[in-house]
Amino acid sequence: GFKTGIVGLPNVGKSTLFNALTRTAAAQAANFPFCTIEPNVGEVAVPDARLEKLAAIAGSRQIIPTRMTFVDIAGLVKGASKGEGLGNQFLANIRECDAIAHVLRCFEDGDVTHVEGRVDPVADAETIETELMLADLESIEKRRANLVRKLKGNDNDAAQQDRLLAEAQAALEAGRPARSVEVSEEDSRAWRQLQLLTTKPILYVCNVAEDEAAKGNAHAEAVAKMAEAQGAASVVISAKIEEEISQLDAEEAEMFLEELGLKEAGLDRLIKAGYDLLHLQTYFTVGPKEARAWTIPQGTSAPRAAGVIHGDFEKGFIRAETIAYDDYIAGNGEQGAKEAGKMRAEGKGYVVQDGDVLHFLHSG
Ligand code: GDP
Repeated sequence: GFKTGIVGLPNVGKSTLFNALTRTAAAQAANFPFCTIEPNVGEVAVPDARLEKLAAIAGSRQIIPTRMTFVDIAGLVKGASKGEGLGNQFLANIRECDAIAHVLRCFEDGDVTHVEGRVDPVADAETIETELMLADLESIEKRRANLVRKLKGNDNDAAQQDRLLAEAQAALEAGRPARSVEVSEEDSRAWRQLQLLTTKPILYVCNVAEDEAAKGNAHAEAVAKMAEAQGAASVVISAKIEEEISQLDAEEAEMFLEELGLKEAGLDRLIKAGYDLLHLQTYFTVGPKEARAWTIPQGTSAPRAAGVIHGDFEKGFIRAETIAYDDYIAGNGEQGAKEAGKMRAEGKGYVVQDGDVLHFLHSG
């Protein structure tokens, strides 16, 4: 599955947010730096209104949303790359993530200690980015040193790795994150496998006070500007409110949101933003038993999409009976769409589109 790591300085609201996301008390929120020590992993359902509509039409007995994983990563402080705070342990946890949700404190509250003694989310973002850049530099130096012997043996993979590491190193030494390096199509796979921290896409999460959730504040605006300049994404959220909402049932939550002047829970926006950040998309399988959403990267071929359900579906792939979501709705289901000529038989070369309703035919 796809993993987003939640990072941020201590006391910015990571655990509060993570708790709300996963509705567990596993990550204990407390007004104390370093309170979340183990990386906490939680799975969340990706909200998608289309799934309920499909299920209603097909009379599906069960609705199964697609899921995304969030990891609460503690211990990122100034000097972390030098072993401060929880030291280097957090780095490995970030390395394994596909994207980073960076929580920034945008709320003023004298009772909650800020590690730097002031609220300045843009400076906080730079602090963390610097740590990640330093960590990348250090690991690049180590890795290049380890490659020296292989390079002498004319190892092509090693040469490619070393060339890419050198490019990343040059960018970092010039004060730019590794994501600023332009990578060719042929190198993109090897580049990803380097798992550099500063190549991960970033979503800035502005944690604002309860009464600012709807309209944001000046701190959040400064972050939005910074994000835009970096080509990153940002969302405004109140972790406290999300925590409260996560304890309500659906109907109560809707009333609460209305009172606050919010159209949608912040978490839903956060999850969707994470999904977009990773260039993910959804296809559906729909039947009387269940209506289910599946996650694939944009540009995935039909056999690979089938493989998400089961490896055998990919190996034995014959074709995918395909109905676009809008056609499924317009035809009021599979039968209607079929009669309208909207069911297509797609082969191995088909690139699955967001919202496709698929039925795979496979051998074995
Ligand atoms: P972490 O160290 O980043 O995981 O931060 P926590 O989630 O543990 O939060 C640290 C403290 O800040 C806790 O006392 C939270 O209740 C408090 N906190 C989190 N979000 C907000 C917020 O939006 N407003 C206020 N006033 N306090 C918050």
